[in-house]
Amino acid sequence: MTRKAGAELTVADGTAWEYAPAPESRDVVRIDAEYGLFLDGEFRPAADGTTFATINPATEEPLARVAEAGAADVEAAVKAARRAYKQVWRRMPGSERAKYLYRIARLLQERSREFAVLESLDNGKPIRESRDVDIPLAAAHFFYYAGWADKLEYAGFGPDPRPLGVAGQVIPWNFPLLMAAWKLAPALAAGNTCVLKPAETTPLTALLLAEVCQQAGLPPGVVNVLTGGGDTGAALVRQPGVDKIAFTGSTEVGKQIASVAAGTPVKLTLELGGKAANIVFDDAPVEQAIEGIVSGIFFNQGHVCCAGSRLLVQESVAEIVLDRLRRRLATLRLGDPLDKNTDIGAINSRPQLDKITELAAAGVAEGAERWSPPCQLPDRGYWFPPTVFTGVSQSHRIAREEIFGPVLSVLTFRTPEEAVAKANNTPYGLSAGVWTEKGSRILWLSQRLRAGVVWANTYNRFDPASPFGGYQESGYGREGGRHGLAAYLDV
Ligand code: NDP
Repeated sequence: MTRKAGAELTVADGTAWEYAPAPESRDVVRIDAEYGLFLDGEFRPAADGTTFATINPATEEPLARVAEAGAADVEAAVKAARRAYKQVWRRMPGSERAKYLYRIARLLQERSREFAVLESLDNGKPIRESRDVDIPLAAAHFFYYAGWADKLEYAGFGPDPRPLGVAGQVIPWNFPLLMAAWKLAPALAAGNTCVLKPAETTPLTALLLAEVCQQAGLPPGVVNVLTGGGDTGAALVRQPGVDKIAFTGSTEVGKQIASVAAGTPVKLTLELGGKAANIVFDDAPVEQAIEGIVSGIFFNQGHVCCAGSRLLVQESVAEIVLDRLRRRLATLRLGDPLDKNTDIGAINSRPQLDKITELAAAGVAEGAERWSPPCQLPDRGYWFPPTVFTGVSQSHRIAREEIFGPVLSVLTFRTPEEAVAKANNTPYGLSAGVWTEKGSRILWLSQRLRAGVVWANTYNRFDPASPFGGYQESGYGREGGRHGLAAYLDV
């Protein structure tokens, strides 16, 4: 099979499909040359005037300059959030808070094309994913938690559950708007005010969400967005006056934050990395499982904390599963994230591409066999082809470390007990997948897998009503559902 420019695809058996370019228009979104911090209801430059560039990872073209919040801005934002908490938000009846959340949800829906294009430009993910997954799910989170805002006393946390106060929230770059929604919606519904720190490489949709908060008439200070890098995040989690820290990101930074919060009254939730097992039994519907394996690891270029990055396949069907998987991967289209036919977009940043490249090289050096479909990478931007490693052993780095890229490590097993032992042989514990037609086996496994989420005959399914979170080095606390409210209430 060969792949040519213009997304033309030719298959060895002579069948050919041609995909005309189908790019989404960039014109639906206005990108300013410079963006300020969103602090106390208005956009303003950083106190010391510092800015940084955010770029399009598919082209390396600069998109905008963005204010970098320093210590003075962090202090001002936390003070603004405290004022808004005391004077407005915690006094407001839940039914009134709900109206703001519903308004934000509706505005996200109305402006969804704008958000989708901006997300794909800033992050590199395919427009099909930002349009069909990230943005609708972000709106769904606001709708869902709007519904809880006036029912907190019926949520099972006692007759009068209280908010915590000011929440400092630090989020990563893999689902920029969606992670902002996961953090803000439950916090606001429960009556807290927020200071949100988006990732340095993907600040733009959080700033557009700030504009939506203004548009929804949200009182000043209830939501503040501080753009910046790791130093801004570190200053926020150390800032006196923060009552709750919510963090999603790497286990390494999560551990640093846990040590900052240790011994203080600050409440902490951590959603960290993962190295999930996606387990395929010999009685699984193969075609369905192939789609689940593909979406498990190649969705969002594998930049997913719960990605099914370890495929455990029963030895008796390994050959047929791998054969079909290779054929399926050869049909994936890699390229322009704004093209509606694209399956695999750009890697989010140069450092992330370097990390994926380094771990893939370690896989080869340790003796695993590497395979990718023939596929031409664009000349500019950050790209990595879909990659499968076979002959992987449990001690290999590619079987143990989070790669956070489009790289699948394949291991085999013979018995269900061996599958459980191998799946649980990880310091993480965020998610797992099981493919089998036996309901009893699904139940047996899900009781034994040490993972916060176990998907059965599906993968990477998300719903605002469903709790999500990990064990061990994948962190603690739950986001989503009724459990997600508990993280923002004094219970
Ligand atoms: P980080 O954990 O560094 O980033 C997550 C967020 O924390 C970002 O907003 C980051 O800011 C901020 N941050 C960085 N340092 C600190 C600090 N000391 N105190 C407070 N906040 C901080 O992840 P990276 O982006 O560096 O990615 C590294 C690896 O982490 C990836 O390769 C991947 O394996 C894993 N990862 C896991 C994620 C998950 O959802 N489980 C998400 C993202 C990454 P900034 O980005 O601006 O530096």
